[in-house]
Amino acid sequence: MSSMTRRETLKTLLTALALPAAYQAEWAFADANLPQIAGQLYFLKPTDAEYKQRRQIFNKRIGLMPRLIAVCLSDQAVQTAMQYAAANNLAVAVKSGGHCFEGYSLNNNGLLIDLSLLKSFKYASADQSFTTRPGAKLGEVYAYLAQFKRLIPAGSCAGVGVAGLTLGGGYGFFARQLGLTCDSLTRVKLVDGQGKLLDSKNDAELLWACKGGNNGSLGIVTELQFKTHPAPASFTHYRFKYRSLTPNKVSSLAERWFGLMPNLPTTCYSSWVLGPAQLTILITDIAERSAPQLQNILRQLGKDATTVQGAQKDEFLRGIQRFRGGTEPMYFKNVSAGYYHGYADIKSVLPSLFTQMQASALKQNLIQINTLGGAIRDGFSATSAAYPHRNYAYLGEFQVYYERSSDSPKAEALVNQVQAQFTQAGIKAHYANYPDIGLKHWAQAYYADAYPRLQALKRKLDPSNRIQHPQSVRL
Ligand SMILES: Cc1cc2nc3c(=O)[nH]c(=O)nc-3n(C[C@H](O)[C@H](O)[C@H](O)COP(=O)(O)OP(=O)(O)OC[C@H]3O[C@@H](n4cnc5c(N)ncnc54)[C@H](O)[C@@H]3O)c2cc1C
Repeated sequence: MSSMTRRETLKTLLTALALPAAYQAEWAFADANLPQIAGQLYFLKPTDAEYKQRRQIFNKRIGLMPRLIAVCLSDQAVQTAMQYAAANNLAVAVKSGGHCFEGYSLNNNGLLIDLSLLKSFKYASADQSFTTRPGAKLGEVYAYLAQFKRLIPAGSCAGVGVAGLTLGGGYGFFARQLGLTCDSLTRVKLVDGQGKLLDSKNDAELLWACKGGNNGSLGIVTELQFKTHPAPASFTHYRFKYRSLTPNKVSSLAERWFGLMPNLPTTCYSSWVLGPAQLTILITDIAERSAPQLQNILRQLGKDATTVQGAQKDEFLRGIQRFRGGTEPMYFKNVSAGYYHGYADIKSVLPSLFTQMQASALKQNLIQINTLGGAIRDGFSATSAAYPHRNYAYLGEFQVYYERSSDSPKAEALVNQVQAQFTQAGIKAHYANYPDIGLKHWAQAYYADAYPRLQALKRKLDPSNRIQHPQSVRL
């Protein structure tokens, strides 16, 4: 049969299966020796035209090249791909939204299980649950649930995958009121390292692990179910900018912000974002009317700001879409800059950090500190999820963006220098969803006391360590 005839036959088959047109167009032919399931599974080799598109992740800095990519559109496809990996002794990486900072959703010379086309959205009004698949991205999830005036508390960048976000924790604008994304997770289906399909309905330990402890480590999640929450009617944000900064001024602006944040209502979120030339403070609120504590904070922050953007109140979906970010891949080196209890934790680092940021040849560098607390700390028991860092009130992230791949070594050197200072200042806890490949004690930093329990599950679910990346849970 000529390849054209095969293509036509396959098209007819796909039409009969009623797959979306996009999937039909993206179909590629599998090698004769590779397993295939019509409409559900196909493999790509580096020489295939579609390989480049499926290999691309959000971070252009990462150049890893899997030997094969298995594009999976069903549970059975994932099981078959896992069995193929085991039979051929291939390490497996998993990609959903492709937003991992360090590219742990790719590997070199192994098998990539690509779930970006395994996507569905289902809201059940009877129990107000939302069931989705790992290809779903946050922008799509917000837009889908907004039709029912519901939400799950997640991050704001539209291109981030709901799977990777949830499996590492997931915080955002609504977390201080509703908890982390993983706190709303009620059920998962997962293919383990041996190709078995498991359901957390029959195994509570699976659900616990998938709440912050299973980014590309224990099994491949193929379905996620969440409880949903009423979406607020509106979303309001405020912005303050400060220029003409000196190390001393940075310190005093930081001290004031940290001092005000314990009074921030839980309907609000704030970020403190310092670049070489400017500090920006963002506050968001989902309450219909701003609380008196918030008004006091806004007054204090406005005192010496260079510019103040007062209340920008939008209808809910429009409001979060303002923060959707770009979806085109870019060069960056971003890492967790640690969890903090308060200003004292980073007081010693800030002045020299700011001096280094100003001196760097890469001008698009910044430190972003986000508020946590509220329901993240108070709403859930410490043992309800593998996510361990509930008692910290703040999370830092250091970010470097640049235009040319030749600048990657400079970006990595700057991050290493900065991270060394945080380590020296005693910052030891880090966010698994903001991985830093250079962290020595990453297992303790990401998972703390949950790590031995995750290892026990790894031994049960993936005893050959088939699913792995540089910071996946060890046997
Ligand atoms: C622009 C940007 C904005 C972000 N904003 C936020 C934010 O607001 N809040 C926040 O908490 N985090 C945020 N993050 C971090 C984000 O949570 C992580 O990068 C997350 O892991 C991305 O998930 P993904 O599915 O897009 O990525 P992927 O790269 O596909 O996967 C990330 C990790 O999860 C594993 N994984 C993916 N799918 C599965 C699966 N189905 N089963 C098992 N393992 C899987 C991968 O192997 C990899 O280790 C942001 C990241 C970026 C780049």
